[in-house]
Amino acid sequence: MTAKIPVTILGATGTVGQKFVRLLDAHPWFEIASVAASAQSAGKRYGDVVRWREGPPLPDRVAAMTVAAAAPGIPGRIAFSAIEADIAGEVEQAFARAGVYVVTNTKTHRMDPDIPLLIPEVNPAHLDLLPRQQRERGWRGGIVANPNCSTAGLVLGVAPLHQAFGIQKLFVATMQAVSGAGYPGVASLDALGNVIPHISGEEEKMEQETAKILGGFAGEQVVTAPITTSAHTNRVPVIDGHLEVVSVGFGRRVAPEEAIAALEAFRAPAGVAELPSTPARPVEYDRRPDRPQSRLDIDRGAGMTVTVGRVRPCNLLDLRLVLLSHNTVRGAAGAAIQNAELLVARGYVPR
Ligand code: NAP
Repeated sequence: MTAKIPVTILGATGTVGQKFVRLLDAHPWFEIASVAASAQSAGKRYGDVVRWREGPPLPDRVAAMTVAAAAPGIPGRIAFSAIEADIAGEVEQAFARAGVYVVTNTKTHRMDPDIPLLIPEVNPAHLDLLPRQQRERGWRGGIVANPNCSTAGLVLGVAPLHQAFGIQKLFVATMQAVSGAGYPGVASLDALGNVIPHISGEEEKMEQETAKILGGFAGEQVVTAPITTSAHTNRVPVIDGHLEVVSVGFGRRVAPEEAIAALEAFRAPAGVAELPSTPARPVEYDRRPDRPQSRLDIDRGAGMTVTVGRVRPCNLLDLRLVLLSHNTVRGAAGAAIQNAELLVARGYVPR
């Protein structure tokens, strides 16, 4: 690829928006052409309004940009959206109507029947909802969504088991990092030394999105997978990383070693494995008895790998396991960038 594709970040000052800035600054295909946020930030220098919380320093080139209002017309052929869900609907649709491909983190369009809800290693065929979306909505651009952060880890972590044995039931209890609530998010006096057994709307999202992503694709529509999921979601005082304990039920008995072999053999399909953000091992199985751990295993595969451990028999369903994923990388910015790479690789966005 010679010239890079200009992109914009909507919600660039937020938790996920900053992760976009960091990951896109060094991206081989994309170049940040503009940054956008709310009316409070628009018109000001990005470096002056952002409370930068990424490890590496804020790139000078982006710091010097003037924050734009999140409206079509700003430079960028792809828009990475990390804005508040309650305003995302109109904003994202306006960009798609104007011919921009919107790759969104927000919940707003995820369950629309014509919107691809993608994990490229799991359901890349769902991207082919786009022609239907464009035809029915009269858009020149389009919207592609990535899953909720806890769903992303769950679905990628169990996808090898679903592909090999067919999952019928899932029980999941999450321990979710505070960064999943954005900034300033959960007040420190609520979060520190505490566990909060409620994350608004999260359990419903996990239950619905899982069945859509693991569903088949036929005749320009997703055929929802017949999987019953029961989710319990909890906020814990960890900065990054969603740890999930999962029980899985299949249509037949599956031995732990069979499941571990399926997890270890899992690789991205051709056409996805070659994308810059696809890790060599999207799922890694760790045989140590006390892994994965949030702090130690979160950055595997540059935050794009889901670590699975502790596969063992379950007294309620068939098997149980633990999985860990990076909520702002695999569960947000990294996932959206990988989706955009797939849009380019599949020719939706010309190089
Ligand atoms: P956040 O830290 O609160 O950031 C919100 C961003 O939205 C800020 O850049 C803010 O700009 C911008 N914004 C607010 N109102 C706006 C408006 N009217 N027009 C344009 N921009 C506006 O939130 P976050 O955690 O990054 O989450 C962003 C989105 O991603 C949410 O929909 C969230 O549900 C989703 N998400 C988050 C995660 C995660 O792990 N955090 C994971 C998956 C999905 P100002 O600075 O100018 O106010």
